[in-house]
This record gives sequence, structure tokens and C-alpha cells, in this order.
Amino acid sequence: MVLGGCGAWPEGGRACSGFVLEHDGYRVVLDLGYGTLPRLLALLGSPAGDGVDAVIVTHRHPDHMADLHGLFRARWFGRRGAPVIPLYAPDGVLARTAAMEDDGAELLGRVFRWHPLPAGPYRAGPFRLESVLLPHWVPNAGIRLSAPGLTVAYTGDTGPDPALPGLGRDADLYLVDATSREAAPGPPPGPDGPELLLNAREAGRAAAQAGARRLLLTHFWPGSDRAALAAVAAAEFGGPVLVADEGLEITLR
Ligand SMILES: [Zn+2]
Repeated sequence: MVLGGCGAWPEGGRACSGFVLEHDGYRVVLDLGYGTLPRLLALLGSPAGDGVDAVIVTHRHPDHMADLHGLFRARWFGRRGAPVIPLYAPDGVLARTAAMEDDGAELLGRVFRWHPLPAGPYRAGPFRLESVLLPHWVPNAGIRLSAPGLTVAYTGDTGPDPALPGLGRDADLYLVDATSREAAPGPPPGPDGPELLLNAREAGRAAAQAGARRLLLTHFWPGSDRAALAAVAAAEFGGPVLVADEGLEITLR
């Protein structure tokens, strides 16, 4: 299920990056950007966040991890002493989250057990978790989760990179950054320098080169015309092109 599909900051009524993948009774959360936690807790039906088996965060920008702090609070105040939740994330995610609490490093360690990315492969429930470093302003881990008969891949935030087709190779669903800042309303948003985000055309091309079965465009700059960007991606990718609207559920098998 899509928890949020906005990049940078959330539009009214939407949320930043966040996804839940369920398979074989195992529930993994991919990113927890601004505004994703209330949607996650509603999905779980638990104010304490019961039912999360693992959390993966692609990088330390707040539009991908701000609500990890909220999930920490849900566990710390709502289910103290419960088994720790594996947290797969690049260096810096935990420290940034901990900085919001006094004695945060110690407290965070009682809720999450950190495993560094990119590294592994790891075994996360039924999944083999592989990761690859992709170009962004901070270390960003592209994610590939495979179980027998099911593969889901997610770029996080990335510039164009030769690793993108391999990351999403033959995936049942490829979640690809489609920020498309050049198409965003208003003046071109900063920062200057090399573009370390993808646009919809590049996302479609990456999914086509990967041979993915379905493409899920995500990380839309606020105010973007999502339908128009989907059409741009569809010119490059022949399979189904979906957009990461909040609440969207996709059945993969
Ligand atoms: Zn982002």
C-alpha cells in the first residue's frame, strides 16, 4: 500500500514517501516520510504500531524518515519492552532520529535494531534484501526485495545511474523516483549542480531497461500533474504505469 508519494514536502491531504509491502504474513515498511505515520497506524489498526516486522529507510532526508521518529514514539510509549524492530538504513538515519529525543541514542536502540545499508544481502522474513548505493546528495540505498515468485524494487531518490536496470531486473513492481522538478510549477527549485533526482521519462526508461512488469512512479514534487507525468513515463515503458497516490493498494500475485 502507498502511504505517501510526495517528494520534498507533502501536499495537503497527501504524505511524503512511504510504502508497506506485505507477503507471507510479513509486513515491511519502506520509508516513513512526513505524514506517513497516521496512514501506517490506520492500516495496522494499532496506535502502538503493532504489526511492523521491519523498516527500511533509503536515506536520511526527512521526506523519507521524519515519521520514523513518530513510530519510535508509538513503540516507546505504546509498547515499551516489545521486541526490537529491525531497521535497515544508511548511516545517519538513526542519529538524526535520535537527535529529537534527550538520550535518544539509547532509547532508539531499545526500539530499533539498526542494520547498515547499502550492505548485505540480508534475510528479512521471507525476503532476500539487497541494496545498492545510488547517487543522491546523501548516501541513498536502492532496495531490492525478493521472495520465491515475488520481487519488488525501489530506487529511493537517485540521479540517473547504470545500476538502475539491474536493481529492478524483472521486478513485479519497480518503484521509481519520478520527481520531475523541471515540470514542477513555479521557479525551478534548488539546489544547483548536477541533477540527483529522476524525471518521469528517465523513470520509464529505467523500468523498461529493467524488464519490470509494473512501474510505480513516486516522489512527485508538490503541485505536479501526476497524470501528465504518467503519460510521459508510459511513452518509455510498455507495461502498466501506476502513480503513488496515498492509499493505493496493488496486488502483485
Ligand atoms: Zn526525497
